[in-house]
Amino acid sequence: MNIGKHLSDNMNRPRCHGLQFNDLASLAAGVKSLVYTSVHGVDDARLLDRLCADLKLKKVTLGNNESVSNSPITDVLIGTNAKKLEAAKKAYKNVLSLEWGIALDYPECCVKSYIAWNAKTGNEDLIRHIYARSPAGKTFPFWMNNVFNYYSRLIRPGDRLKYAAFSKLNQGMDRESIIPWHPCSYLCAETVKKGKLIYDVMKRHMPFTAASRKAMLSKPIVFWDNFLFAILNGQCRKMDGGFIIAYKGLSRPKSLIGRETEKMLSGPENLWLSARGKITNPAELRLPGNHVVIPFAF
Ligand SMILES: [Zn+2]
Repeated sequence: MNIGKHLSDNMNRPRCHGLQFNDLASLAAGVKSLVYTSVHGVDDARLLDRLCADLKLKKVTLGNNESVSNSPITDVLIGTNAKKLEAAKKAYKNVLSLEWGIALDYPECCVKSYIAWNAKTGNEDLIRHIYARSPAGKTFPFWMNNVFNYYSRLIRPGDRLKYAAFSKLNQGMDRESIIPWHPCSYLCAETVKKGKLIYDVMKRHMPFTAASRKAMLSKPIVFWDNFLFAILNGQCRKMDGGFIIAYKGLSRPKSLIGRETEKMLSGPENLWLSARGKITNPAELRLPGNHVVIPFAF
């Protein structure tokens, strides 16, 4: 598969905007054999057809849908195997089924965990659900970080409006993750392994994009809720049964937290955490609300 023309740092590469680089890298890495994507308008459709011709991929059209920012889109599947594409087309009738997740080559443990989260009433954000199922006292590899991936996650009233505000705040920034699915835990063995393969493909074909994503995704995050978080511009290390974070101010993308909280967090240059991500020192740092620090690292 000659993917270099499409998976590249060259800004003049042909690009169908609905198709994420991480999905394309998953195909090239052999982690996935088909990808669920969408086209928005005739130009997008033409670009996707060109990509399919270049990479000898088959395309199946699923139907009309709406993007996270409420634009009309057409859902499509692209992949190498006609039989698998047909099976996925059938499973598309219920996108909250195990069959659909498995058809898309997502790890079964992660699909099951996502479905369990979605079925809960009064949902906590998906990131909280995943963090609660992750082991304490360990840092998480950066390619597991899905905090800025809002696909399949905006299901509470008001989420779409917040997404619009968040997007405006971070316009033009590449906020795409490395793994194109939501893991069941930040140390899910299968996702850790597959995510590394996807990252390696990105690093080989688009080193600048890969490096900038690594820098964005490898920082510890103080997390309250889907659009309320602060990225600490530094590194998290294990220490004395917990963690220490050395950092200087906050990093992008910016979230919808208030100026006051931003200021409080910009002050200290070191934070000490318990194994479960609670800030233990400095004691005078009194952040509002229920939060946890998620120890993403290199
Ligand atoms: Zn999993």
